[in-house]
Amino acid sequence: MLTSKIHMRVYFDHNATTPLDPGVLEVVTRVLRDEFGNPSSVHHFGQRAKAVLDDARTEVARLIGGEPSEVVFTSGGTEADNFALRGAAEALEPTGRKHLIATTIEHEAVLVTLKALARRGWKTTLLPVDATGIVSPDALREAIDDSTALVSVMHANNEIGTVQPVAALARIAHEYGALFHTDAVQSAGKIPVDVRALGADLLSISAHKFYGPKGAGALWIKRGTRIAAILTGGKHERSRRAGTENVAGIAGLGAAAALAMKKLDGEAARLGALRDRLEAAVLAAVPGTAINGSRTPRVPNTTNISFEGIEAESLLIALDLEGFAVSTGSACSSGSLEPSHVLKALGQSPDMIHGSIRFSLSRMTTDEEIDYVLGVLPTTVARIREILGAG
Ligand code: PLP
Repeated sequence: MLTSKIHMRVYFDHNATTPLDPGVLEVVTRVLRDEFGNPSSVHHFGQRAKAVLDDARTEVARLIGGEPSEVVFTSGGTEADNFALRGAAEALEPTGRKHLIATTIEHEAVLVTLKALARRGWKTTLLPVDATGIVSPDALREAIDDSTALVSVMHANNEIGTVQPVAALARIAHEYGALFHTDAVQSAGKIPVDVRALGADLLSISAHKFYGPKGAGALWIKRGTRIAAILTGGKHERSRRAGTENVAGIAGLGAAAALAMKKLDGEAARLGALRDRLEAAVLAAVPGTAINGSRTPRVPNTTNISFEGIEAESLLIALDLEGFAVSTGSACSSGSLEPSHVLKALGQSPDMIHGSIRFSLSRMTTDEEIDYVLGVLPTTVARIREILGAG
């Protein structure tokens, strides 16, 4: 049997998704069981479900420093990003502004949406990043003008964890009268996220990246921001997002937000130390390795390491057979390996891009799990290199 020699499964892919926190699971199951009412109904059952949404809205607003009335629940990060970009574009089109700016390292939820808007006549600009994965405010100054409707720059990158100078970028966007959106899907719950300090107008989050359920997220919309609904229908979410709410999922998002606030400081320090230990030990024990992206500022749970002369997929599969779940920056689609657009934007060599592996840790990650992978990784890499004739 494939799993016979595996005595321990270790999950190092928390930027892809996290398991539910046990407390969140309890809330989600209780709400699924007991709060079946439609929050739009005026009777007792409906009002109970509405109270669940109100509580979650308060917790989410607290996590990001906004007002509950500014929080619109969505089906996750992808919808929140689509809402921000498409909604702002539609609302601002009549003003004559027809230019959108993002960066080369955004998530596909932003990049592919921009491409769709470009096909409808929007001018789009992708700002470059430097070798450490940081966007410079000067690059934004060069690209922006009075025709810019919206600037979208992610807070933390999903592949390398790099944190962008969002506050400085938002200030520049506002100088030119443009809106500023940040995709905080990979930063919320990991580092402090404060919409006022960041100076954003729009901010996306997703529950399943911080121990909440999949299919629940939110777009924070600063009061007074011009944005059109992209899901139209009923008057849900103050007519900003039609559709009967995913009450249990949203309750899970709220519970995850409340937990994140309680645990954030202690966990950030613990995870940063674990990640740094993993990184230092890999660099010392495995020749031909390099860290991708800036080491600081970076979310504390993420490291992206290139292994010279290695196909990342081979290493991923070899590690999976040993019981470790990691991820590669490459997306394997229809049989072709697309190199990571993020590592390409950093100017990494093709060899190092193809050999890159992301480890993303979590609240559940232990010292023992780090020791365990460190005991296996150097020999696994050496074995693959030997097979490939590169070692
Ligand atoms: N934005 C970033 C930076 C992400 O990492 C992800 C998920 O991987 C998303 C958006 C999409 O979020 P969701 O999976 O909730 O649609």
